Amino acid sequence: MDRFDVVVLGGGPGGYPAAIRASQLGRSVALVEASRLGGECTNFGCIPTKSMIRPVELLSSLSKLPFVKLGYEIDYPSYMEWVSSIASRVSEGVASLLRRYNVEVYNARGRVLEPGVLELSDGRRIGYDELVVATGTEPTSIPGLDFDGVLIHNNRTILGVRGKPSRILIVGAGYIGVEFANVMAKLGVEVHMVEVMDRVLPAMDEDFSRLMSRRFSRMGVKVYTSTRVLEVKRGEGMLGLGFPTTPRLR
Ligand SMILES: Cc1cc2nc3c(=O)[nH]c(=O)nc-3n(C[C@H](O)[C@H](O)[C@H](O)COP(=O)(O)OP(=O)(O)OC[C@H]3O[C@@H](n4cnc5c(N)ncnc54)[C@H](O)[C@@H]3O)c2cc1C
Repeated sequence: MDRFDVVVLGGGPGGYPAAIRASQLGRSVALVEASRLGGECTNFGCIPTKSMIRPVELLSSLSKLPFVKLGYEIDYPSYMEWVSSIASRVSEGVASLLRRYNVEVYNARGRVLEPGVLELSDGRRIGYDELVVATGTEPTSIPGLDFDGVLIHNNRTILGVRGKPSRILIVGAGYIGVEFANVMAKLGVEVHMVEVMDRVLPAMDEDFSRLMSRRFSRMGVKVYTSTRVLEVKRGEGMLGLGFPTTPRLR
């Protein structure tokens, strides 16, 4: 059985810097990641959404210049391929950082077998003196709005869609919902957003909420606050996004 001073469970932005730091401090370190290095942020969160927004905002800024004649259109399938390639590149960057700092990476799901021993999904076991749990969160369906990756999406499955939706209903106006509403609206998708609380970005400063609401109204995004989704009726060309997350307790 391999043994390390420190084992980090989870290779997201919580886990991989912890592993690098422990190594910089002279410990022998392993990192166990069940999926892709970089976690939610790199693969399904911050990086893909910022990659989606950048070209759209660029085109939108250019189109406001009176002397620029734009006839461009975003080719959605290749745009989303490009977004996915950026996430992959950043994930590879995380892998090379971990190599550079001599962090041993195990591509497997890990669980604590007994204090000091982690069991991996491929059957291996690794020993540790200290364990850092950085297993993050994962998307959670709302009852009646179960993700199917076809009609009802979460932040992960929507990135795999290669046909541009004509209309989208976004459930939840937290920062993730707002980010997708913004980019989808700028892509020319008809966006409806439902929020159970009385304002968009309910966890943020009220002034910021108001600013965002005004912006959405200018962009033509239809926002329904103090509203709960009760039922979903399936129709052509519609996509839904739900964004609550729950901590993974393993
Ligand atoms: C659409 C979107 C946009 C976002 N934009 C931003 C932003 O602009 N700025 C910002 O700061 N944050 C943003 N976030 C939030 C950010 O993604 C999270 O805060 C961050 O990813 C949390 O990092 P983490 O390491 O705690 O968890 P995660 O990134 O979830 O990483 C946990 C990792 O642990 C792995 N794992 C779980 N269980 C096990 C196990 N048993 N064995 C092995 N591996 C396991 C998972 O596969 C995962 O890779 C965004 C999120 C989303 C969804």
